[in-house]
Amino acid sequence: MDDPCHLSDEQLLTRLDVLAKVEREHLHDFLACLGEADRRKLPEARGYSSTFEYCVRGLKLSEDESYRRIQAARAGVRRPELLSALADGELSLTAVSKLAPHIHRDDAPEIIARAQGKDTREIEALLAPLRPEPEKRVTVRTVSVVMRDERDQGPPVVSTRVDFSFRGSLALRQAIEHAKGLLAHKFPFGELDHVLLEVLQDYLERHDPQRVLDLGRTTAARSSSRIAASVRRAVWARDGGRCSYIGPEGVRCQSRRMLELDHIKPKALGGGSDVNNLRLLCRPHNDAERRRVLGEGKLSTDLAHAKSVDNSNLRNQP
Ligand SMILES: [Zn+2]
Repeated sequence: MDDPCHLSDEQLLTRLDVLAKVEREHLHDFLACLGEADRRKLPEARGYSSTFEYCVRGLKLSEDESYRRIQAARAGVRRPELLSALADGELSLTAVSKLAPHIHRDDAPEIIARAQGKDTREIEALLAPLRPEPEKRVTVRTVSVVMRDERDQGPPVVSTRVDFSFRGSLALRQAIEHAKGLLAHKFPFGELDHVLLEVLQDYLERHDPQRVLDLGRTTAARSSSRIAASVRRAVWARDGGRCSYIGPEGVRCQSRRMLELDHIKPKALGGGSDVNNLRLLCRPHNDAERRRVLGEGKLSTDLAHAKSVDNSNLRNQP
């Protein structure tokens, strides 16, 4: 293979496209063969205690990989359309292993058809009603946890934590995912406790009567430079709460993470803070736009920076 360093951008992307397709086809073939070997009980005949042991010891796969592949391969014996969808990129290996426990149902073909093209979360939502679980009691317990520092040096520290356990609605999950995306610049790993604390503190700052009184004095001075809430809401609704960047091939970025309001014509060049001159961009695309503006050499760093000054408070959007 050519050294990737010597490929043009175009060649590199085409190559990755081809390799991903080849990888999916290889995975399809691997699972079809593994399913057949498993059906014939060949691993046992060759001295392995199970197909799992054969995958780990014989084929050198990790335990996790072996588990998911065997699950998918067995499902593929019964429902070959699962493996075809995998080869076509309509289902991932994770999706196939999530569907696997449901393949014996009469309506399995319909479920498999509906799952195609959906992401893992959407498939979980699709499958959830098939296995209803009893309601769970809400518990909040204070617990002591032994913690070590990241390099595992020094004596362990006992820390007081709170263990929350409850079931929430799909709307809550959606709201949490949305907040994680908007706070990704601050919490790149999306730690749930940090994200929820940030959101709750933000709410309390605005609604706790005492805080509102304290803040009223300091925010009045700043509010004149902000973009009106009605404008932010209108831009948000028009762009569908997603990054509005469209690449040279016409592919639109769908990101909901780290969204910022971008002035299409920079404020410093006379661009207004109205709906027509504003759009939602994710942080990477806003950065790319800034680099593009800088690259043209017409603007100073200050002007380029002015493109991003009004990006605050998008987390308050619906
Ligand atoms: Zn984007």
